[in-house]
Amino acid sequence: MNADVSVVLFTCDLRLHDHPPLRAALDGARRVVPLFVHDRAVTAAGFDVPNRRAFLADCLADLDAGLRRRGGRLVVRSGDVVREVCRVAAEADAAEVRVAADVSAFAHRREERLRRALEAEGRRLHVHDAVSWAVAPGAVTPSGSDHFAVFTPYFRRWSGHRLRDPLAAPRAVRVPDEVGSEGVPTRDEVAGRSPGLAVGGEQEGRRRLTAWLRSGLAEYPDRHDDLAGDATSRLSPHLHFGTLSPVELVQRARRAGGPGAEAFVRQLAWRDFHRQVLAARPDAAGADYRTRHDRWRSARAAHDDIEAWREGRTGYPVIDAAMRQLRHEGWMHNRGRLLTASFLTKTLYVDWRVGARHFLDLLVDGDVANNQLNWQWVAGTGTDTRPNRVLNPVAQGRRHDPDGDYVRRWVPELRDVAGAAVHEPWKLGRERAAIGYPDPVVALADGLARFRRARGRD
Ligand code: FAD
Repeated sequence: MNADVSVVLFTCDLRLHDHPPLRAALDGARRVVPLFVHDRAVTAAGFDVPNRRAFLADCLADLDAGLRRRGGRLVVRSGDVVREVCRVAAEADAAEVRVAADVSAFAHRREERLRRALEAEGRRLHVHDAVSWAVAPGAVTPSGSDHFAVFTPYFRRWSGHRLRDPLAAPRAVRVPDEVGSEGVPTRDEVAGRSPGLAVGGEQEGRRRLTAWLRSGLAEYPDRHDDLAGDATSRLSPHLHFGTLSPVELVQRARRAGGPGAEAFVRQLAWRDFHRQVLAARPDAAGADYRTRHDRWRSARAAHDDIEAWREGRTGYPVIDAAMRQLRHEGWMHNRGRLLTASFLTKTLYVDWRVGARHFLDLLVDGDVANNQLNWQWVAGTGTDTRPNRVLNPVAQGRRHDPDGDYVRRWVPELRDVAGAAVHEPWKLGRERAAIGYPDPVVALADGLARFRRARGRD
């Protein structure tokens, strides 16, 4: 076994800047195999959907190009991740494998299997903690519990936690010649992706980040809820695939300073918050974090409502606009996510898992921790301290899309309706018949009454 060769397994950390496993490998070994495995289990679990597969293809192509500029290349394999890593380690005669820690039950199982298989061959697995979050799960805890269940006290402790300094990208990477690779895929090979899907890759992520810090951050506190203004960072897919480092993002935003940085860094802390919940309660990916004893409407009874919601024809313009944005871009504005999730779980009283699955099928940033726990937050089965709040799509539409531009952008049937009247098409009188826009699937008052009854709140 050659102590001079190390394998770095890339998962959701597809970058060269600020990559502790790669840095450690290069510090300790003369040759390094940067490896990505298309894991068959991810496909089998239904997570390998077209939008994320296409974005991933961009990320892998960009990572490969970045490594080639440094004299190396990316090794790509597919199959069972443990078997492929062991195979590559054997081909390279590597003494060690390095990988970033992750929180899902899936990642834990992968890590355990990998450790056992490598140890059986006399190789070591190193798991690096500070790669995929700013503050690791468990690094800050309240007294008497292994995780924070409420965001505000978590954020206070998170803010006081000292972060490591970001690492520069390596200058050179030498890859052993004897390790072969499959071709790196391209996004064009992926059928069924959303037409307006964002471009992936570390270079694109860094370009976006720099542009955001220069011209978006300062206005973030005032504009982050402006649906039509689209004034959030749109960095979520880059955080999901790790083309940007959360540590570097927090440090650079803090350096930029001002109220924009404070508000933005607070959002980044939400990401870590959900990770520390999922790390402590892996079952929260599929089970209520705090049960409210819901007896959700059955899929059969709610079938037509669920379909109308998925397709963006509920008759509530802001809901339909957001659902159509999701389909077209594989991404949705955070306010849209809050409104559509509240509408499904509370107004239609449909199980949050139905909505979470649909989001995971389409979101380019679809992420078990953020998606499932945000859905639970909205459904009131998660960490929200006001679990029975219901968002009114008409009032919210008027507030966060006051001129109606967001609705007109995504719901062409309503493009000729001026101003905020677009949020209440049922009031349009005679012109309404010609528009071809559906009636509301349920009256808001009826939806609210059903929800209150179900939660014992009449
Ligand atoms: P910005 O406003 O620019 O925020 C910067 C970053 O902070 C985001 O990229 C994200 O990493 C983090 N962030 C912001 N808000 C949250 C939040 N509420 N929870 C956790 N992290 C946050 N985010 C995902 O990354 N993946 C998901 O699968 C996902 N599903 C969601 C489902 C629902 C029902 C809801 C209500 C929210 C969900 N979010 C999810 C959180 C949030 O909506 C997105 O992170 C955000 O809209 C991404 O856009 P942005 O990068 O422009 O955000």
